Amino acid sequence: MKNDNIRVRFAPSPTGPLHIGGVRTALYNYLFAKQHNGTFILRIEDTDRTRFVPGAQEYIIESLRWCGIIPDEGVSAGGDFGPYIQSERKDIYTQYAQQLLDSGNAYYAFDTADELEQMREALLKDKHETFQYDAAHRLSMKNSLTMTAEEVEQWLKSDKPYVIRFKMPANEQLTINDMIRGEVHVNTATLDDKVLFKSDGMPTYHLANIVDDHLMKISHVIRGEEWLPSMPLHVMLYKAFGWESSMPEFAHLPLLLKPDGNGKLSKRDGDRLGFPVFPLRWPLDVNKEEIASGYRESCYYPEAFINMLALLGWNPGSEQEIFSMQELINTFSMERVGKSGSKFDPEKAKWFNKQYLLKQPDAEICKEAIPYLHGKENLYDTKTLEKICGLIKERLHFVKEIWEQVHFFFEAPTTYDEKAVHKRWKEGTSSTMNNLIEVIKNIEPYNINECDTTINAWITSNELNLGTVFNSLRLCLVGELKGPHIFDIMDIIGKEETIRRIETAAKIINY
Ligand code: GLU
Repeated sequence: MKNDNIRVRFAPSPTGPLHIGGVRTALYNYLFAKQHNGTFILRIEDTDRTRFVPGAQEYIIESLRWCGIIPDEGVSAGGDFGPYIQSERKDIYTQYAQQLLDSGNAYYAFDTADELEQMREALLKDKHETFQYDAAHRLSMKNSLTMTAEEVEQWLKSDKPYVIRFKMPANEQLTINDMIRGEVHVNTATLDDKVLFKSDGMPTYHLANIVDDHLMKISHVIRGEEWLPSMPLHVMLYKAFGWESSMPEFAHLPLLLKPDGNGKLSKRDGDRLGFPVFPLRWPLDVNKEEIASGYRESCYYPEAFINMLALLGWNPGSEQEIFSMQELINTFSMERVGKSGSKFDPEKAKWFNKQYLLKQPDAEICKEAIPYLHGKENLYDTKTLEKICGLIKERLHFVKEIWEQVHFFFEAPTTYDEKAVHKRWKEGTSSTMNNLIEVIKNIEPYNINECDTTINAWITSNELNLGTVFNSLRLCLVGELKGPHIFDIMDIIGKEETIRRIETAAKIINY
């Protein structure tokens, strides 16, 4: 049964691609909603038109879809509380801004940018104070508190710009609870009179955010730590509107930190250390050149990406590391979200992908691998291709890396690793290999077991060095000292090809 008391929202601004920190915020909201049979809402906060980036909204929607974080309500899902794009809700905000003006909780301010700057400089020079538009200074400024009603009316009738500011109480002690940080104490004397509405007819983030959370009946605001400083203003806005009793609970999530050093994980860290910080490539438009890489295009499984993100900030309280979305929904708890930031670990991200890769049946890995086999897949039947995938999967983090591990099944080596040759190919090795060819010719039936028994018996009876024979043989077949078990390779490439490769190597590598 749906629980109408739990309604959470993810409210990104379409100012560019969604950072993985944003995806984690969406994920925690989603897990919290699903766990309580609540509703997960997607709202687009696009009131700051100067920062609007075309394509960003589509990017956000596509990212969430790829991650399996599907909104129950909101942009692209619909619902009873729409519209869910703030720029389509202008009239609603005008009405609520007026309500705050009427109740004396907000006022018009007419100061130009230059005047504000002058005030700032004068205060610094005369009193060594930094200027804040607040209770201590508002009466020295140009606003509806200091001008006559006629002056204000005239100004508003003209097309000169103005803003509406919140009238922050001069001295009120606030104690606010955060689900992650516990009690936060603030005195309103430290807060300024934030702009709520601009003369372009658009509200600022603060007003739109509070009005929408209230109208959309949001029960819990789960968002990034960067919004913690705004929490007192938001609480004061709820009070000013008389909505205190239905105020949501707040949870401010810790930051995702750089893998090395301190500070927030940024695109630059990704570029510098070679990992994506966005879920999908940006821009998504295939015709445009990629500016930033994405997890999807880097061949991460969305399940692995989500699993990795879930554990960056939340601790399950057990050793378990691999969680399906359903398991995350069942086990997630806000009490186990830490206060301090989580260091992003690109190697661990790859590790997660590997775990999901290893969970796939060989047939599935094989299907995914075909595009990376350079058209050479037809050399084998499906069963053999699947067997090859099974043999080497432990060496992969991503299926796209497969060629590096399997090329020798499809192509004979053309070069031989110099270092290995130097170390392993001794005087007489070529003739030993030529003798081995004769042994192999007689192996019948030619299969793993027969190869194993016959070759080992030949080594023993001729008192040869086991390591030397097998390393040289591997060099002949692979070109380097890598790859799965030698008899598996011999079995898959077949008797004739095995012989051909030994003949070639024995000719080329000569002492
Ligand atoms: N629009 C804000 C952002 O871009 C949302 C903050 C909030 O969730 O209140 O992050």
